[in-house]
Amino acid sequence: MIKKKKAVRMKKCVFFDRDGIVNKSPGAGYVERWADFHLLPEFPDILRVVQQKGYEAVIVTNQRGVARGLMTVETLEEIHENFKKLMAEKYNLVPLDILYCVHDKGQCECRKPKPGMLVEAAKRHNLDLKMSWMVGDHETDIEAGRRAGCKTILVSGNKPEMQADYVVPDLKSLESLLKNVLEDHKVKIEKKRTKIENK
Ligand SMILES: [Mg+2]
Repeated sequence: MIKKKKAVRMKKCVFFDRDGIVNKSPGAGYVERWADFHLLPEFPDILRVVQQKGYEAVIVTNQRGVARGLMTVETLEEIHENFKKLMAEKYNLVPLDILYCVHDKGQCECRKPKPGMLVEAAKRHNLDLKMSWMVGDHETDIEAGRRAGCKTILVSGNKPEMQADYVVPDLKSLESLLKNVLEDHKVKIEKKRTKIENK
């Protein structure tokens, strides 16, 4: 009984990949300075949907450009501080946390497709990974989400993805999908709660 109550208190979360979902993808390169960080216009609406549904939002991003010497951790953090400030001031919306991996391939437990950043965020913020979602534009995002136990959504117009639970062609469709699937999730939780109370 105590265990069940504790489980209910854990928070649900939508994890977002950064480049290509939050901001315009820099392609094969990296966003190396704030001037090159271009917020995608759909993202604030998506974040609003997530928060209105009662989910936390956490960004998890691989930034190997640091390991490659193309930018410093300080610059990366400055970009994230500027992003959070922009979101707060212009949209009154702030994600719960931003986790990043600055390592090269095969040198850590956090670089996606490994689930390390999601697991760390869950520990840090008491998130229920099984009730959470991972959204990204690459197969590595989907794999990280699956390995963490989350449901997954791939945003991609040209790659058929067999691993993801859902595939949407663009961010506008992502917003519609989240409105539906997150709502369904909420209904399930309420049913569970009712069951526990009736016991
Ligand atoms: Mg991406």
